[in-house]
Amino acid sequence: MRRPLYRDRGVVLRTYRLGEADRIVVVLTEQRGKVRAVANGVRKTGSRFGARLEPGSHVQVLMAEGRGLDTISQVEVIDSVAHLVDDLDHLTSALAMLEAADQLTLEGEPNAPLYRMLVGALRTVSQRGGPLVVPAFFWKVLAAEGIRPELDVCVRCGADAPLVAFDMDHGGALCRACRSGAPLGADALGLMRDILDGRLNQALAAPASAATHEVAGHAARAMEHHIERRLRTVAMFERL
Ligand SMILES: [Zn+2]
Repeated sequence: MRRPLYRDRGVVLRTYRLGEADRIVVVLTEQRGKVRAVANGVRKTGSRFGARLEPGSHVQVLMAEGRGLDTISQVEVIDSVAHLVDDLDHLTSALAMLEAADQLTLEGEPNAPLYRMLVGALRTVSQRGGPLVVPAFFWKVLAAEGIRPELDVCVRCGADAPLVAFDMDHGGALCRACRSGAPLGADALGLMRDILDGRLNQALAAPASAATHEVAGHAARAMEHHIERRLRTVAMFERL
């Protein structure tokens, strides 16, 4: 029986070896969410897939549906990884985003917004990089998942007072009287507002500073926290 073919676009999140010549490729697709597929003969020299299935590649694929794993039958590159791998900072940024996207998605769970955000963030990394590309991606993804920190008033008492601390356990920024978590500088607060209130390009243009470093720390902790909680929830459902 001929297996049904489908076409989709996606970003390669990671790959791993399968036997001597083949590779499993994990792709975040636009329409089907995360898909694991076999790329036959990809590790042979002269493979028809060449280097088109490296982590970070944005590709158009033709796949054959399988009972367990799908099989990749054709690949065309939309955005290559060339600009990601020629700069260590760019590569590190790309890998951090690919890993987060991988951990945030389950197979067979479509997530087109995440696919679009990942494609956009990878393009930004390869075009200009910058200290806030990864933190901005994390905050945007968290906001899309319904986790949006309160940055305008104290998340605990509601006071419209200067906000001096940041604690995602409480859900955002805190005033002096309520403070817990990590200290929050005024510049870092400004950058986080830029990222989440529609001034993303302004934030992405910010040069590296203590404030961008601080924003990166808050974003990484919030993302880790969210992924852990998600993995625990998934584990709980799998046990049922
Ligand atoms: Zn307060």
